[in-house]
Amino acid sequence: MATSPNSPTLRSWIDISPSSDFPIQNLPFGVFKTEERGTRLGVAIGGYVLDLYAASQYGFFEDLTELGAAQPKVFRRSSLNAFLRLGRPAWRAVRQRVSELLRHDASELRDHEEAVRACLIRQTEVQMLRPVKPANYTDFYSSIEHATNVGSMFRDPANALLPNWRHLPIGYHGRTSSIVVSGTNIKRPNGQRKAPDEAAPTFGLSHQLDFELEMAFVVGTGTTLGSTVPIGQAEEHIFGLCLFNDWSARDLQSWEYVPLGPFLGKNFGSSVAPWVVTLDALEPFRIAGPVQEPTPLPYLAHGGAHNFDIHLEVALTPAQGPETTISRTNFGFMYWSMAQQLTHHASNGCNLEVGDLYASGTISGPTPDSLGSMLELAWRGTRPVPLADGSERTFLLDGDTVIMRGYAEKEGIRIGFGEVRGTVVE
Ligand code: CA
Repeated sequence: MATSPNSPTLRSWIDISPSSDFPIQNLPFGVFKTEERGTRLGVAIGGYVLDLYAASQYGFFEDLTELGAAQPKVFRRSSLNAFLRLGRPAWRAVRQRVSELLRHDASELRDHEEAVRACLIRQTEVQMLRPVKPANYTDFYSSIEHATNVGSMFRDPANALLPNWRHLPIGYHGRTSSIVVSGTNIKRPNGQRKAPDEAAPTFGLSHQLDFELEMAFVVGTGTTLGSTVPIGQAEEHIFGLCLFNDWSARDLQSWEYVPLGPFLGKNFGSSVAPWVVTLDALEPFRIAGPVQEPTPLPYLAHGGAHNFDIHLEVALTPAQGPETTISRTNFGFMYWSMAQQLTHHASNGCNLEVGDLYASGTISGPTPDSLGSMLELAWRGTRPVPLADGSERTFLLDGDTVIMRGYAEKEGIRIGFGEVRGTVVE
């Protein structure tokens, strides 16, 4: 029987630092570009990208019947979408084969010098692209700590959660056109805002630009309009997860959001990390979520472990200055699981599409240093966040770079997500 790509005993013949996000047990998928090769799908391994198109051309995937006639061209696309459409057996077969090619005792690729040169490129030599062409984007609001904090600040600490919050995963439909890959600058948006003590609204640059630490999952298997997804099958629709920064202009948001919800305070930009870590690679990191009280309605009820223990960090680097880590939290805190989000989303018959991005909502933990937005860290401007250069922040300044990182770790194996970064510009 083939060794599971998740086996902690696997090693690669490629030299990989123990602190790397991309050991042989991870093998996340992404899309890269070089002048010479054009746009291709790749898998991250240590400091390298394995070029799936080149590997396919060298015949390494020849016997993978799951790929059928789709290869090699499916690996020379500008997004993962066509590959995702091949379905889970194909995703699994490719990850399994890549694992077999890279393991320390496999010589097929290792001893083929020309193929090694063609298939492995240093990550520093490629440009990473947006991993999927998002078909649709939905943003949830599933951290009870975040929802409680925001409710306390904007409404009433005694009744921070609205009556529906514990009964369904709240969400809204966002916009895909402004989802950009990590490294893309974020232009400070203009908009209409009115503080409670101002008589009339004004229009201008946002003074309360913020980040939101989120994880997004990528839908790999869609549904047809009118059909639903039983909670027990929800995870079968998920390909993988990536880091996500849902940039937010709080002054625009707080004025415009009543009664229909987020709009221009949100859709000027969201940043997505280039690497999608498969749900398969995250299997060892399953944990139970928080106890849900009251028990959700039957269509949303699931026992067992549907959260994932993923350590998350946010760092801020001013234009001239060192990096400061300003938040450390965990994806395992989420009140509503991805399975519940997906099943709820499809429960009215709304169809899921391949390439859909569903973001978790801001991920905050229970302590003041585990909050996932500047709004909460600085408590609406009342407790400025100190930075290593001696300055402080209540919201983001031009030139600030926000970097989010995440990894799951167990038995010395670190399954990392790389990073999503973006710099605020005028
Ligand atoms: Ca959000």
